[in-house]
Amino acid sequence: MPDHSSLTRIRQCWGAERFKEIFRKSVAACGEAGLIDGDTVHVDATLIRADVSWESLTERHAAQVFSENDAPEEDPPPEGGQKRRGRPKNQSRIVAKKCSLTDPDATLTTSCKQYRMEPSYKQHTAVDDRAGVIVDVELTTGEASEGQQLQQQVARIERNTGCDVSTLTADGAYAYGANYAAFEAATIDAVIPVPTERQAVKRIPTRRFKYDGRHDVVRCPTGKHLRCSTRNRQGVVYRARAGDCRVCPLRTRCFSAKASSRIIVLGDGYAALLRARRRRLRWSAHERGLYARHRWRVEGVHGEAKTQHGLRRAARRGQWNMAIQVYLTAAVMNLKRLAAFCPARLVWQGNEWHTLPYTDHPAAIKTASPARRQAA
Ligand code: SF4
Repeated sequence: MPDHSSLTRIRQCWGAERFKEIFRKSVAACGEAGLIDGDTVHVDATLIRADVSWESLTERHAAQVFSENDAPEEDPPPEGGQKRRGRPKNQSRIVAKKCSLTDPDATLTTSCKQYRMEPSYKQHTAVDDRAGVIVDVELTTGEASEGQQLQQQVARIERNTGCDVSTLTADGAYAYGANYAAFEAATIDAVIPVPTERQAVKRIPTRRFKYDGRHDVVRCPTGKHLRCSTRNRQGVVYRARAGDCRVCPLRTRCFSAKASSRIIVLGDGYAALLRARRRRLRWSAHERGLYARHRWRVEGVHGEAKTQHGLRRAARRGQWNMAIQVYLTAAVMNLKRLAAFCPARLVWQGNEWHTLPYTDHPAAIKTASPARRQAA
């Protein structure tokens, strides 16, 4: 056995890229054995608890102190006037975030509102539908949004497998208008349910405003037009005319008393998001079956990685170090599938060895649809 310090030095010398290459080779080996069809992939993300203690968490006061020191000096108060208290007018409030001193790459996040926030990393996984081979895996810090990673992930899947993805399933966390628009343009069938909108308690909700994509305007519940005014980080801002809102009977229910007109922000690909929402209501049995397969295919892979390969908690610190753990775990799981499949694939028939196609293999029949199992 090599000394443990040799293993550490090898990791440091090779870096994460070399281990990523090992993972890609395991995908290529599964592809050559016929375990991947590359046509249908299931995508999901899971959190990995960072290897840090609660005592190592602290708030980022330093950024706040530096920004306050860099702020320009305030004008002195007028003669006899009172000095202004509190924060300068043009300075926004900085929310102190907690970070870990022992592993600053891990960030506080949670998978569910009912659970507490924990310092974590996030693993983004794509699993092929045919035999559950992991065709792409990537690691980010815990607070990174999986929906924003999806388009790069599809490009990586196609590079790893050498096939074009035609059907992709994912859960509601990936339901971004920009993703639907990109997949429509690439003719990828995205089986991603659009979550129901959050109910606004006080104001008329955004869903009551109708978007007219042809004329690029939004119509409010009284039929008035909101026109595109500017753009911010969330998307395009549509604003109603102040004159329309002033005399409107719904004025008090539509926006706050301080504002002069109603503003609606529509994210990129909003028209594609609306189409996906309408389509979700008419999902066929095939699409519902695909989404049911998504559950056990990709979530089963995460469960296996956590219960059998120690991925529930990080073994090392630092994002590049954790990426190595993730690549190696995925490579090992792929090799397990390859090893389970290959020996039984050769059958002795008519005085010679024959190679069974994957669809006739007992493991494939076991995981196939009921109709396929009956036929087999
Ligand atoms: S307040 Fe303005 S935006 Fe709201 S419903 Fe009336 S006219 Fe439309």
